[in-house]
Parts: sequence; structure tokens; C-alpha cells
Amino acid sequence: MAAFGTVFMPEMALAQFDGSDWNAPKIVPSDSLTLHPGAHVLHYSSTCFEGLKAFRHADGSVNIFRMDRNIARLIQSSELLALPAFKAELLHDMIVDVVGRFASDVPEPPGSMYIRPTHIGTEAAIGKAAAPTASSLLYVLLSPVGDYFAGGDKTLRLLLEEDGARCAAHMGMVKSGGNYASALQPIMKARASVQADQVLFCPGGDVQETGAANFLLIDGNEIITKALDSTFLHGVTRDSILTLARDMGMTVSERALSVEELVERAGRSGAEAALSGTAAVLAPVGTLIHQDKEVMVGDGKVGPVTIKLRQALNDIQWGKAEDRHGWLTRI
Ligand SMILES: *Cc1c(COP(=O)(O)O)cnc(C)c1O
Repeated sequence: MAAFGTVFMPEMALAQFDGSDWNAPKIVPSDSLTLHPGAHVLHYSSTCFEGLKAFRHADGSVNIFRMDRNIARLIQSSELLALPAFKAELLHDMIVDVVGRFASDVPEPPGSMYIRPTHIGTEAAIGKAAAPTASSLLYVLLSPVGDYFAGGDKTLRLLLEEDGARCAAHMGMVKSGGNYASALQPIMKARASVQADQVLFCPGGDVQETGAANFLLIDGNEIITKALDSTFLHGVTRDSILTLARDMGMTVSERALSVEELVERAGRSGAEAALSGTAAVLAPVGTLIHQDKEVMVGDGKVGPVTIKLRQALNDIQWGKAEDRHGWLTRI
């Protein structure tokens, strides 16, 4: 099985903003783009992206999960990066068009078609370090993906990082390349020094998120996760899992969680922790590494609530449970 995100459909949807208008989107080969080497994105990181999935149901239909949320988030990211504005309808039509074209390539569950809308500043203007790009490209790549958990439900090891931050605080809710670049060295160091899988960024002791996923602490009937603010990425999976947890009668506490409280509660028997994101849905966390000590989360193994919540979300995505919240767009 190829690594996640390394296989692409041969064509993508592409629209161009020429400084005054968006042209009609086209379907073009997905293996190349022509960019001026002075393009704004290559120097000043005017880039943002999205990640969502299309699922094949047993009746053969193809269904995209919470597309409206991801479109709204790319519009928001574009605005915060001063990239040209576009209407939700433009991207909606591009996604439906390209997924429809490759509908027969959407894998069966537990696989799916990962959809990667991307927006980049293309103006050749290296003098615009402090000014927005005039032109841009919006495109939608497709990548068929397999079962994220094919290797079994191994629990993750997270290093709690209280000194550094994932990215600049005012960039937290932008899904933008620069934020991943800024988190890379801390993650590589944590892998090399304590064999951590991910870094859980907790600036000033405030438990935030990892490099590309939101963090949830599960303690009995309660889920605790940081309340939305502008310092971190507002995951669609986070929102979906919290919604399903409320449906199941769980107590959802969106509030500040300190490292101190996390370490204390994670050590209790029955505690669970998980990372949420489109790629993995819910990935169980087994160990927290804090000030050179290892804290096992519950018994260190994947817990029943994590499995139950992940299953509930997968069942909706895979068409095995009723879509009560209207999350799927059938194409
Ligand atoms: C994409 C992402 C998430 C998860 O968002 P989903 O919408 O659930 O996929 C969380 N944190 C960061 C930093 C991300 O980039």
C-alpha cells in the first residue's frame, strides 16, 4: 500500500483569479502547474488548503462528508491570508465536478477518496513582502486512500510541549503551509529524543493541539477539549465527534484544559485520549511524555469510548447509519 497522499488521480479541477475575476474552472492534468519562480506563494507563503473525504456506499453512490464546512474554512483561511476571495459555490462545483469524474475510483470503505482543495498566490512580485498577491490559483486534487489503521490500533506517544507553540497565535485557525513548517523541527526533535509520535503543543500550560490534529481527553462520560478560539485549527472531525458524543448523552466540556489537569486525569484508570482529524478520524493516545516522565493514559491501550465514537462517525460516513445531521452530499 502506497503511503497516505502519494497517489493522485490524473486530473484536477483548476480555477484562476486574474486580478479582477475568477475564470470558469477547468479539468486539467494534475501532474504539473506553471508558476513564475517569483510567485508570491513561493516567497511569502500565501497558501492554504483543505482536507475532506468522499466515501463509497454499498448502493454504489459516492458521498462527500461535511463539504460545506471545509469550503467555509478555506474561504476563512484565504481571507486571513489576504488571498483573493471566492464564492463557496465556485469551490463546491469544482469538488463535485472532479469527484464525479473519478467516482468509479473512490475506494470501498475503509478506504476513501481524499480531497485536497488548495489556494495559492501566483503574482510574480517579490516586492510584495507586505502586500497581498493580485492573482491566485484554486485547485482540487484527489488522492485515493486506504485504511489508516491497517497496521492495527497502536496507541500514540505524545510529547507535551509547554515552551514552544505550533505557530504564531494569530495564525492558529488558518490551514496554511507555514504553520506546518514552523512545527516541523519540534516534532522531529521529539521523535529523535523520546520516540514521540507527535508533539502536543501546550503553550504556557494550555493544552492546544498537535501538528495536524485536535486533542480530546475522555474521562468516563465526559469529553474535555479546548474551547474554540483563534489560536488553533477548528477541526471538522472535532466538531463531528463532539456532536455524536452529545447525541450519545455524553457530557462535552469545551473549556481550557491545563497540562496539570491533563496529566492528573489521564493517569486515572478508565481515562482515554485521542487525536481527531480527517485522515485518521480518531487516533488513540496511550502515553503522554511530560518533563522526562511517561504517563500512561488509562491502561495505555485503545479505549472503548474512542472505538465507539470512531465507529459512530465511520457508520455515517460509510452509509451504515442514518445521516441525521445532514453531513453527506451525494454526488
Ligand atoms: C486539519 C487539521 C486539524 C483537523 O481538522 P479536520 O477538519 O478534523 O481534518 C487539526 N489541527 C490542525 C493543525 C490541522 O491542520
